[in-house]
Amino acid sequence: MSLKTLSVIGAGQMGVGIAQVCAQAGYDVVLNDISDEALSLAMAGLDARLTRLVDHDRLSRENKSAIQSRICSSRDYARLGAADLVIEAASENEAVKTKIFQTLTPHLGDNTLLASNTSSLSITRLAARTDRPERFMGVHFMNPVPVMQLVELIRGIATDRTTFEICCEFVERLGKTATVSEDFPGFIVNRILIPMINEAAYVLYEGVGSVESIDSSMRLGANHPMGPLELADFIGLDTCVAIMKILHEGLADTKYRPCPLLIKYVEAGWNGRKVERGFYDYRGSVPVPTR
Ligand code: NAD
Repeated sequence: MSLKTLSVIGAGQMGVGIAQVCAQAGYDVVLNDISDEALSLAMAGLDARLTRLVDHDRLSRENKSAIQSRICSSRDYARLGAADLVIEAASENEAVKTKIFQTLTPHLGDNTLLASNTSSLSITRLAARTDRPERFMGVHFMNPVPVMQLVELIRGIATDRTTFEICCEFVERLGKTATVSEDFPGFIVNRILIPMINEAAYVLYEGVGSVESIDSSMRLGANHPMGPLELADFIGLDTCVAIMKILHEGLADTKYRPCPLLIKYVEAGWNGRKVERGFYDYRGSVPVPTR
């Protein structure tokens, strides 16, 4: 089976990026979000990104129009469920994702494959809430999707070989590289990355370093392209806390307890770049540390 049509549910920073790379690779994409505002912001953001590529001679005007003509939005689950592959990229909240899959299941085409872009939740558990756990995969893109090369592929306990092979081909057609992870909390990348970010929040919380000294230390001392707090703002502090909680609960080890300061930022709604405030304040011309 070769994929032609895709649906992406959740049009936040990940969903719109996934829609973009899929349309660039020639797939027809239906994009969905529960919020009309998120959907129009996503479409406007996509237009701005593609316009920048045209301005820098990295994309022709014709290709820009062709990419945009391949993406449409819909709130109709029957339309979303009719695609060859549905990728769920909604907020990192198990209740939200479960509800989406339960609502979607009666509308699915006979051969439709399902994927979740979850950063940390059990693929086996999400798959079990559908009528087709054998055709369900974790397809974990990295942020920003158009730039990052990696896609982690995660099989649930019931995922069949054909589904896995189709997803491998899909990643290849996007021009990206797949790695395979077993279905354990956080998979590979976030099992390593998010505890590092959480530790950086502890270093700040305990007063060992300031926001700037922590980020400079890791950029210059460990050669990381971004400091961990800068990166946390980029990922979204709500997403970081959600992943830490899943690591903490799923692996039952106190070393994964989320840092209280990180939780406080999320409680304040300071979720990082997407709301213009997190460890840095992005509302001015240069980011200013908030502590
Ligand atoms: P985000 O907060 O930018 O966007 C989430 C979107 O989901 C929002 O627009 C929200 O309105 C929408 N949504 C919520 N409930 C919905 C529903 N019932 N139906 C449709 N849409 C709904 O989050 P994001 O960073 O794009 O993350 C999305 C997923 O991708 C999460 O599972 C996250 O863990 C994963 N992910 C995130 C990153 C990252 O760096 N941010 C990287 C890889 C994977």
